[in-house]
Amino acid sequence: MTLSLTKSDIAAIRAKLALNGQAFIDGRFVDAASGATFDNISPRDGQVIAQVASCDTEDVDRAVLAARRAFETGVWRDMAPKDRKRVLLRFAELFERDMDQLAVLETLDMGKPIAESRAIDVHVVLETLQWYAECSDKLYDEIAPTGPGQLGLITREAIGVVAAVVPWNFPMLMAAWKLAPALAAGNSVILKPAEQSPLTAIRLAELAAEAGIPDGVFNVLPGFGPTAGKALGLHMDVDCVAFTGSGEVGKLFLQYAGQSNMKRVWLECGGKSPNIILDDVPELRAAAERAATAICFNQGEVCVAPSRLILSERIRDEFLEIVVDTAKAIRPGDPLNPETRMGALVEADHRNRVESYIAKGQEEGAKLILGGNRPQTPLDGYYVNPTIFADVTNDMTIAREEIFGPVLSAITVANDEEAARVANDSSYGLAAAVWTRDLSRAHRMARRLRAGTVWVNCYDHGDVTVPFGGFKQSGNGRDKSLHALDKYTELKTTWIEL
Ligand code: NAD
Repeated sequence: MTLSLTKSDIAAIRAKLALNGQAFIDGRFVDAASGATFDNISPRDGQVIAQVASCDTEDVDRAVLAARRAFETGVWRDMAPKDRKRVLLRFAELFERDMDQLAVLETLDMGKPIAESRAIDVHVVLETLQWYAECSDKLYDEIAPTGPGQLGLITREAIGVVAAVVPWNFPMLMAAWKLAPALAAGNSVILKPAEQSPLTAIRLAELAAEAGIPDGVFNVLPGFGPTAGKALGLHMDVDCVAFTGSGEVGKLFLQYAGQSNMKRVWLECGGKSPNIILDDVPELRAAAERAATAICFNQGEVCVAPSRLILSERIRDEFLEIVVDTAKAIRPGDPLNPETRMGALVEADHRNRVESYIAKGQEEGAKLILGGNRPQTPLDGYYVNPTIFADVTNDMTIAREEIFGPVLSAITVANDEEAARVANDSSYGLAAAVWTRDLSRAHRMARRLRAGTVWVNCYDHGDVTVPFGGFKQSGNGRDKSLHALDKYTELKTTWIEL
């Protein structure tokens, strides 16, 4: 196992990759019932790389029926937890065996640099699969402190059929954050990957089957949001939707639940995260370099991207100069080249969207100090240069709306009070960071920030042991940690008179 791949490794893996675009329902790979497929385009060069099953209502019905049947027979739910753990650990082992291939497939499908998919994505997925597999037989129930004449049992039970609807920016990782705890808790899962990035989800189904996850317990339905996604949201026999994606679609899922069976809806939506640099920032150079690399990570297609840089006016000029120099050196290029540090945006429409925000920033009077244009690359993919705006005010569109590209908006503030006020003046509340030498100042600021995660003197750090999710319109519920299991279980009280 290697942490990085050479050009020749990548070419060899790519030559052997099987690009399966079928759905996986009830333990079998199948075409969509209608026979319809759609083109799967690689953002690195705009080429069609596979035909993918375009699932719709009939396929959703088949998958839900299979998932429900598996749940009701108890083949998975009633398996002894230590046996379920063994199967899930086998799933993780098979994933680990194929990590090189999976990293190449992810990069080919959605455009992130291979260096990142190999060193980050697949490792975090592996950690997630292993951690929740281990949880399977380590979760104890509770006995309530009742009087001596009663016994109050509080038990957790699997919720039933879980639909996981995920986005394209971290396709495997977002899927793993949902399916690993949902399966560990004994549920049946239907995974709907984003239409832009279905291939690794389909590959996960092969591995799940090889690991011995019973038929119907894990299903994958590629297809479009307004067809397959909506049918899952409206289905009367889906018990829970775990969604990651835009706020706009998150709100639709709340409506679908209201129009159907009041299914549980858990939402991980967008962000406009403030990265606050106070005037006593320790290691100013390192903090400025991190501000630049973090907005370019995954082409800026990151829900916690530090897209609002909130800078104390005392250090503003020195800090911004380093941010610009660092970002300038990050040149977008072929994501399959192991040297590349920033890849391609996921699709042409998304690049147009990012560019329209750049135009809007200029129209509204922000000062473009880097980028704003496309790089020259030998490939016909969807590339945009790192882009930085200074003199942004928090009421400008580029400070309010999620751009989901490598576009940074720098806002200057006079003091901590203003920094916190500006940071919180957002409809989102996913993450925030504060950089200061002063521990008390850091704590005070962290408490004031309305965000699901606050980093102090770092950005985008963490692991599977801590919960992840948002305040406000960034969503509800949490992925990762033991708290994620709350989404996939119901609490039952059994009261016994002795
Ligand atoms: P999206 O909302 O367009 O799509 C997400 C999923 O929903 C896809 O599977 C899509 O097919 C489906 N979908 C789309 N329209 C639908 C509809 N009408 N009915 C049912 N399902 C539908 O989001 P995206 O563009 O794929 O991803 C980008 C968004 O995801 C950003 O807003 C980003 O912040 C968010 N995101 C959030 C987190 C988090 O953990 N908070 C993590 C990653 C991405």
